[in-house]
Amino acid sequence: MALKSRYDIRCSCGGAFTGDVYEYVFAEHDPDLKDAILSGEFNRIPCPSCGQVLAVENRFLYRDEKNRLWVWVCKKGEESGRGEWVEELMEKTAFMECHFLDGEEEYRKFLVFGREELIELLLKEDADLKRREGRRLKRNPALRWIADGNRDPGYLFLHGEKINISIPLKLSETDGNQPAGLEGNKKWLKHYSQGLNIHNPYSSFLNKASRSKWDRIREMEPSDDSKNEFDDFAESWARSRIDGKGFKGRYPRRRAFFDGLKKRTVSRKIRSLHHR
Ligand SMILES: [Zn+2]
Repeated sequence: MALKSRYDIRCSCGGAFTGDVYEYVFAEHDPDLKDAILSGEFNRIPCPSCGQVLAVENRFLYRDEKNRLWVWVCKKGEESGRGEWVEELMEKTAFMECHFLDGEEEYRKFLVFGREELIELLLKEDADLKRREGRRLKRNPALRWIADGNRDPGYLFLHGEKINISIPLKLSETDGNQPAGLEGNKKWLKHYSQGLNIHNPYSSFLNKASRSKWDRIREMEPSDDSKNEFDDFAESWARSRIDGKGFKGRYPRRRAFFDGLKKRTVSRKIRSLHHR
């Protein structure tokens, strides 16, 4: 039922080949493909020359009849060319009209960029997934991986029953108080990942009330640059751990909010993944 197209694929080993890449996923007919999206196995194709499995990112349409979801999934980072890609996708969709897309108007339409945003959306809009995975994501320990270099500092991995998701860790760009060097970075990333573990787009321990409180505090005590609420939370959390006094002086409301959170249960543990 899912539709795929042949794509020209180029591997970093120099090998070039063609592979089938899915462009339409109909969740109710292709549960395996839905699972593959959740786990991260979707559109992964082995290079015939070197055997390396390549993640081929392409645009696709995700339709879920049960929950009436109609999601155009663009590539990560395509936000700027928004209009263009949507038009292209809609043209393709129009071509299929007679086959699969009857009753399109009854669906709720969404546009997301990348697999992570699709999962974020499904965790809100797909009722079964929300219930089942929501519980698992909070129970299963998160894994933290901190890299040695500075370029790609590391990840916090969350695992549900089927969902695997990686959240990138970030070093602070603005903070002069951050201890310098590799050890300083590691310390920062450790605290940063704790913040992400508490509040992230997929599995947050902030309930609705604390979340709107956090929003209000962010307005009253804005940080230096515009970040999303999750990055802002994680960065603030790290800063409050590393420079408690300075942070409290500058962001008393944020600090009080964090202190209040400590009393609540953040049941998800973090385990460290080490380099081989
Ligand atoms: Zn290769």
